[in-house]
Amino acid sequence: MKCPFCHNDDTQVIDTRVPEDGNTIRRRRRCANCDKRFTTYERIELIMPSIVKKNGSRTEFETAKLRASLMLALRKRPVSAEAVDIAIQRIEEKLLSSGEREVISGYIGELVMRELKRLDKIAYIRFASVYKSFEDVSEFAEAIQEVAKDKKQKMSD
Ligand SMILES: [Zn+2]
Repeated sequence: MKCPFCHNDDTQVIDTRVPEDGNTIRRRRRCANCDKRFTTYERIELIMPSIVKKNGSRTEFETAKLRASLMLALRKRPVSAEAVDIAIQRIEEKLLSSGEREVISGYIGELVMRELKRLDKIAYIRFASVYKSFEDVSEFAEAIQEVAKDKKQKMSD
């Protein structure tokens, strides 16, 4: 860490404090050159990994898309909004704690299936049956809409 006063590279840590929340570390430093003191803060940085699709293209993780897929699978099922929020949180935490910069879309699909299995068996089967043939969560919404369309057409035939 460079000294902000004289830009010397040689600074020493003279005190380290970890506050109660544990998310930020505060360090007092002293410059070995000019003897001035300054404080630095260290924060944990968590970055959501990008998603690598089956065709090799990359896309940003979007909570809204994840929620849309879950809600579609859970349509008209007796699952509270709070339970869905918790499931989304658990999936996001898994992604964050993976420490990876990129994950394959299939991994997120597996996480979604795991959560749905816990939440509602019917929604799980709905998702799994469509998802297995696509292996891409982002395509799930389109796919399930196609399935719904097909059923309507068959009934009207
Ligand atoms: Zn200095």
